[in-house]
Amino acid sequence: MAKRKIALIGVGKIAIDQHLPVIDASDDFELAATVSTRGIGHRDVPVFRTAAELYEAMPEVNLVSVCTPPSVRHAIVREALAAGKDVMMEKPPTTTISEIEDLIAYAKRLDRVLFQTWHSQYNAAVERTKAILAEEGVKSVRIDWRESVRKWHPGQDWVWEAGGFGVCDPGINAMSIFSKIMPFPVFVGASRLTFPANRQSPVDVEVSFKSGQPHQPDMSAGFNWLEESGEIWTVHVVTGTGTDLKLEGGGRRLKINGETVLEHGDEEYAGIYDRFADLLDAHESDVDMAPFKLIADMFLLGARENGPDFNW
Ligand code: NAP
Repeated sequence: MAKRKIALIGVGKIAIDQHLPVIDASDDFELAATVSTRGIGHRDVPVFRTAAELYEAMPEVNLVSVCTPPSVRHAIVREALAAGKDVMMEKPPTTTISEIEDLIAYAKRLDRVLFQTWHSQYNAAVERTKAILAEEGVKSVRIDWRESVRKWHPGQDWVWEAGGFGVCDPGINAMSIFSKIMPFPVFVGASRLTFPANRQSPVDVEVSFKSGQPHQPDMSAGFNWLEESGEIWTVHVVTGTGTDLKLEGGGRRLKINGETVLEHGDEEYAGIYDRFADLLDAHESDVDMAPFKLIADMFLLGARENGPDFNW
């Protein structure tokens, strides 16, 4: 079968680190064009300054992958859907719940495929953990998600704007694992957000969760963006039967009672493109709202603290 032609909108860090290499290696997709406000291309494909120019010049390209910051995603995805495209979106989806709900309804109305990616979910160790928790239940969960904003978002001032998510930009990856593996719904109980005094989004978040379970498992998470010792992306669960599970490396390593039982390389972005191909075959959308709702609730319930200024 001929490969599907896809265009990338927004050629920034994640497009260059992940989307372009994964599309280059894909059996399902081939890059047909880029849309880049700065005119960034890839190999010899055409580059357009706006999506409208792409849609006019290359109507045969039916798929787009949107890799911009979330603040501009609603308008870009709406325009793509209106032009008859099937759409894959980077995380976080949009800046507000009402925007993503609008996109879901609009895609449905136009009978287009809309895929909200959550890359951290595409790990075999995450799947294995979900299966174990479905069997054994949950006694406690502690999530620690610490990384360096200077390493992962170098110079990206949009992350510090209102609607830029701050440390909840990586924190939503943790929530995408958490909501996927839990065998029952979880809710934000309380949260504390620490903002650099000169910025509009948080650098540190501490949150506790609750559930409708009669035994009320002890569940909490901490996100921090000033960790310079390397990434700490860990989900630690004690199951209802006392098994000690540690998902480390953002979901790539599973330890059971201290022993590594599963470890694999980076398969996340290959996984989301495989999933997109399956959704296109089935002509189905997939928008899992749970991670975004948890993050939104952290802001709604968040007690605010001011911390030191942040400067690059
Ligand atoms: P980035 O380096 O700032 O790239 C975003 C790109 O989007 C820009 O380079 C720009 O590309 C385009 N763009 C279009 N409109 C823009 C606007 N109004 N403001 C700024 N840029 C605009 O950001 P990124 O790290 O790639 O993140 C993009 C998305 O991927 C975010 O939602 C982020 O959460 C997600 N993500 C990032 C990482 C990571 O490691 N950084 C990992 C996973 C997911 P052109 O100049 O080509 O138009």
